[in-house]
Amino acid sequence: MQTLTILGATGSIGISTLDVAARHPDRFAIFALSCHSKIVDLAEQCRKFKPLYAVVSDSSKVDELKKLLELDCPDTEVLSGVDGLSFVATAPQVDTVMAAIVGAAGLLPTLEAANAGKRVLLANKESLVMAGPLFMNAVKTGGATLLPIDSEHNAIFQCLPPDYGNEKRGGVRKILLTASGGPFRTLDLDALPGMTPEQACAHPNWDMGRKISVDSATMMNKGLELIEACWLFDVSPDEVEVIIHPQSIIHSMVEYVDGSVLAQLGNPDMRTPIAHAMAWPERIDSGVSSLDIISAAQLDFEAPDLERFPCLALAMKAAQMGGSAPTVLNAANEVAVDAFLSGQIGFTQIAEIVSAVLNQAENTEPSTLEAVQLCDQQAREQARELIPAIA
Ligand code: NAD
Ligand code: MG
Repeated sequence: MQTLTILGATGSIGISTLDVAARHPDRFAIFALSCHSKIVDLAEQCRKFKPLYAVVSDSSKVDELKKLLELDCPDTEVLSGVDGLSFVATAPQVDTVMAAIVGAAGLLPTLEAANAGKRVLLANKESLVMAGPLFMNAVKTGGATLLPIDSEHNAIFQCLPPDYGNEKRGGVRKILLTASGGPFRTLDLDALPGMTPEQACAHPNWDMGRKISVDSATMMNKGLELIEACWLFDVSPDEVEVIIHPQSIIHSMVEYVDGSVLAQLGNPDMRTPIAHAMAWPERIDSGVSSLDIISAAQLDFEAPDLERFPCLALAMKAAQMGGSAPTVLNAANEVAVDAFLSGQIGFTQIAEIVSAVLNQAENTEPSTLEAVQLCDQQAREQARELIPAIA
């Protein structure tokens, strides 16, 4: 039996994780579930999965959540805030932590889970982007097992040789990171500035939370994933090639020195990488239907257009710069995406803000958590200052 904490249980990844767990009650016991503010959804999940702990990170909602749970779930203890998240990420009874909080808010509990030597299922790519060296060091010193949930990185993990890592390259030449190109891949460039949050969130292949959906529309998501891949697989940005593959059937590929290219294919459904990581090194049913490759019929590939997707170019630049540049990029992007989602700025202004903040910021080497957080805060302030000026 694996005991599981799900950070961000009410989100798209959290819901898919519970869907997989529910198919295998003999394998997974839910230790804790967390949400930020959707306490009605969290209470519903608690009624079904009877976790030992329910955590609401927005502490102002703790009494309301307690009320919702007192009758049906008397054995579920309610915790709140950052301390509550830390407790359920590190408690000795926990084997596995699904890190599925969106954005920088996920850094602390995810890092703590790594430090505590948990099996960390990493969906929260932002934590690795903003604190790559710290995070990988925590995995190493804490003795954690890090398994990627991002479909591309999970695909790469599956295509790498089993003994890859610790300087063993196993004949890998490069990584081919695939991207759908999002909803605006073929849109007239002149129409981009007028795109609404609803249009940006209408992803052709994946059903995801709003922040990552906007990141997919700008292709910042692929940029963050490029940086994520460099940390996870110890490669340089030059060894990762971004390729647009609109059907999202191939989830990424690994090329070897002999010319072999291995790919992982499947229907675009996050339950596949989630189930893979939950059961690894075994395989379990995920509920995902079998790939009908005959009806998929055509797999297309193209190079990304960096004029259409300036956020991808900015992330590539931050990846090359290293140091604090990825932290700055991520922070500015989170602020800009929030501003876009709340109607304060237009779609193409996301890239303008990220670019301005990245160009302004001094590139440092933040070696402590405090230094990373300070750099994140400063970049957020710089981005916020630009919002009224542009809007
Ligand atoms: P989502 O918006 O659907 O869910 C986010 C979850 O985080 C919710 O449970 C929410 O309550 C919680 N949360 C939000 N703000 C918080 C805060 N300040 N403090 C604590 N908790 C907070 O997002 P999602 O689509 O499930 O994505 C989650 C993470 O997984 C992101 O990092 C995303 O990049 C990554 N990811 C998602 C997908 C996908 O298909 N959805 C695919 C790959 C990677
Ligand atoms: Mg992905």
